[in-house]
Amino acid sequence: MSPLNIIDSHTHFYGNDFYSNSYFINSLKFSNIKIISVSTNNQSSLDNINLAKKYDFMIPFIGIHPQFYYENIENFELILSKNKKQFYGIGEIGLDRSYCDTLSKYTSQKQLFRKMLEYAEKQCLPVSIHSRNSLSDVIEIVKEYDIKNVLFHWFDGDVNHIKQIIDNNYYVSFGPVLLYSKRIIKTVNHIPLNLILVETDGPLNYSNCFKSVLSSPFLLPSIIFRLSYIKHKSFHIVCEKIFSNTIKYVNHSF
Ligand SMILES: [Zn+2]
Repeated sequence: MSPLNIIDSHTHFYGNDFYSNSYFINSLKFSNIKIISVSTNNQSSLDNINLAKKYDFMIPFIGIHPQFYYENIENFELILSKNKKQFYGIGEIGLDRSYCDTLSKYTSQKQLFRKMLEYAEKQCLPVSIHSRNSLSDVIEIVKEYDIKNVLFHWFDGDVNHIKQIIDNNYYVSFGPVLLYSKRIIKTVNHIPLNLILVETDGPLNYSNCFKSVLSSPFLLPSIIFRLSYIKHKSFHIVCEKIFSNTIKYVNHSF
């Protein structure tokens, strides 16, 4: 039997002991799971580019997360220009009101987000978007740009957001929350399978039913199994569909 084709569409592979130990790396290679490792600032963008030279199971995205809206943008532009063809997308980028206690900080996040979208548009690259507490604003801004492959990671939108996602052919990804949240299961019900990817955003500590387990790509088969149950399709059909969605999104075959 051939191995499953699975890609973690949004994870943070750099700078942590959990992902860098040899047991994890070897298990990942053995299981045939691939990962898209997004960045949050200049340092992690460089780290991801360097890790991709070492490991062929990962591809790097570079970008500045809204939490780091104060990051040096000139340095980011240097990373962009010096490492052409060594990254495959822009992310993790977006907006997040949780990090803003003033309107001016939110305005700075928006300025940064627009810059990141401009880079992606110019270089025809996919984007990986963070939209906690700001999804409506994020969708409005993204629609202004001519970017073909847009992923709303950890999607948690309402009916109106879902309509816009479908109308614009944007992708959404779901992670371990799908294993315990009835609300997210309802959301998945309203989104066609051809727009769905899977992710873990790892390593993240899930205190819920996981009892402090760190999320890792090895949770992905369970997430896909849950999706297949919701969509009333076989596990293998859903697994292959999500794999081909992800290849299309990133415009790269592993
Ligand atoms: Zn993330």
